[in-house]
Amino acid sequence: MRKFPFVVNSIKILIVDSEPENICFLSQFLRHQGYDIKTANSGKSALMQAQVETPHLILLDGKMPDMDGYEICRSLKSLPLTAEIPVVFFCHQEELVDRARIFDVGGADYLPLPFHLPEVLARIENQLVLNAKIRTRGNSDKDLERRGKLLFITDRALRKTVKKRHHLRDSSDDIARYDRLTHLPNQSWFVDRLHQRIIGKQSASGNSYAVLFLDCDRFKLINNSFGHQLGDRLLVAVARRLESCLRANDAIARFGGDDFTILLEGVRDVEHAIIAAKRIHQHLTAPFIIDNHQIFLNICIGIVLGNSDYHYPETILRDADTAMHAAKRKGTFCEVFSSEMYDLARNTLELENNLRLALERQELSVHYQPILSLTTGEISGFEALIRWYRPDEGFISPANFIPIAEETGLIVPIGTWILREACRQFRVWLNQKSVKSSARISINLSVKQFYQPDLIEQIDNILQETDLSGHNLNLEITESVLLDRDESAMKIIEQLRERQIHLSIDDFGTGYSSLSYLYRLPVNALKIDRSFIMRISENNKNLEIVKTIINLAHHLGMTVTAEGIETDHQATQLKSLKCEFAQGFFFYKPLDSKRVEEIFELHKAAT
Ligand code: C2E
Ligand code: MG
Ligand code: MG
Repeated sequence: MRKFPFVVNSIKILIVDSEPENICFLSQFLRHQGYDIKTANSGKSALMQAQVETPHLILLDGKMPDMDGYEICRSLKSLPLTAEIPVVFFCHQEELVDRARIFDVGGADYLPLPFHLPEVLARIENQLVLNAKIRTRGNSDKDLERRGKLLFITDRALRKTVKKRHHLRDSSDDIARYDRLTHLPNQSWFVDRLHQRIIGKQSASGNSYAVLFLDCDRFKLINNSFGHQLGDRLLVAVARRLESCLRANDAIARFGGDDFTILLEGVRDVEHAIIAAKRIHQHLTAPFIIDNHQIFLNICIGIVLGNSDYHYPETILRDADTAMHAAKRKGTFCEVFSSEMYDLARNTLELENNLRLALERQELSVHYQPILSLTTGEISGFEALIRWYRPDEGFISPANFIPIAEETGLIVPIGTWILREACRQFRVWLNQKSVKSSARISINLSVKQFYQPDLIEQIDNILQETDLSGHNLNLEITESVLLDRDESAMKIIEQLRERQIHLSIDDFGTGYSSLSYLYRLPVNALKIDRSFIMRISENNKNLEIVKTIINLAHHLGMTVTAEGIETDHQATQLKSLKCEFAQGFFFYKPLDSKRVEEIFELHKAAT
């Protein structure tokens, strides 16, 4: 157990580094340890984020492109909100001689590069404990002086912590290196083992080796559906199956959560590694029977072949993890790491960093696509669609950045902004009587947003601020929200319905909805996905599916909106099938608020 006087997953660490590979790997490693990690890749964004997030600790690279690390540290120390945050510098070999400068500018400690993970953890823990002590003693004029003394203790305390770790490592019943649940070795053991392999101390076969990073997909869903106890038993069963399909000289560890790592010895080439991955995949995708439940797992494996370019276990693990994520994204069972994947990860990271700043730089805006009643031909509402305009790149499609926003949790602040902005705009149009009082503004709500603990409170506040009634708001959720459906999802839906807020299932037909439980869901409408509408051809082929969906929805008391209508023929067919609402380029593209107001003017002039 950690000795912290606080809970580890509430501890925020800001990593400031211009090297994506450092940020990526270190942040993943620290997240695995339970820390809440934020990242910044420039001095400016570091200063801004430190003000907004007030992290408990900052890890700072001395070499930043826009500002010198020492300058960043000095600025942090001069600002009231950030002055007390301990700053630990990454110290490149050549900077070690000048490390006194780190302390001159107010730095708390330094981490020599390349990283040695146990040391990283020891130094971080040390700083957090010291800082917590300083905080509990309160601020006084003597703080600086005390801090100076504590710096001295830092080194002593650090030596003690590291020594303790080594002691643990040396003992034969080394509990620190085994996972209590599965009895497999843990991450720390695996990193050491890999290190030994790299330096050639434990090459059982003399041949090359491969590292596999294995992730159980949608494990959270299993925990939610069957309970954590069953989830734990499943992890134990996975561990035993993994052991049974590996050879004695291969090494396996539970890396954390539902991630496992494997060191395969004597791997001749990529094909050989893929065959092994296939074998593992086959073993693990056969159903597990636990407590009379038949459970199927979906497994993704990232593969890296060891070679002489790899000097550190951290780098191999980073690449294996990148390959695993590529497999997840592509929906394949395994992928072998390639440099293109690295480039993609780098671009994604860059996009993520820019997205963090997009709100503040006012690069985000909302466009509105009219939704028409097929009965009256009138505009019955709008769908709010986010747009990101980058001065040097132009518009970036939501399809490219919404998934990243979801993955990183940025969707939450962005989603709140959209909700407020679209409701505000709709209030203006209602006041102008440009839209009917029964009209609705439709806003997309992602899974992460849906499960924010304060979603209802937030919606209540926004509706109150904008003086909008619940019946003017339609929230579009996807089938995946309903797939993860448990008690809490039903409660949220109920609370939304109490407020007369409309709910639609977006992109209907593309997810996993089981028609059998659709009837139990208190949603108001289905939006048929564009892929079905596209297939309504001139000879009315493929009309049957659309007809079935519309009939089903009507039978369940829901209305239907068809999205992506591009031709007159599609509109006519949908009208004849009694589809109530329509949205698509045939009528209008998504428009900025100014263009929408021009349309209102045209309509007014025509009537
Ligand atoms: P969606 O919610 O299904 O939105 C409809 C998408 O279809 C929009 O794409 C719209 O421009 C496009 N569309 C509408 N009619 C036609 C048509 O006739 N032809 C074609 N080819 N496309 C049509 P967009 O704006 O690129 O958004 C893509 C997706 O990104 C959205 O799909 C939604 O899932 C997500 N998204 C957009 N804005 C937000 C947002 O504010 N929050 C969240 N969570 N997701 C958003
Ligand atoms: Mg939508
Ligand atoms: Mg849609």
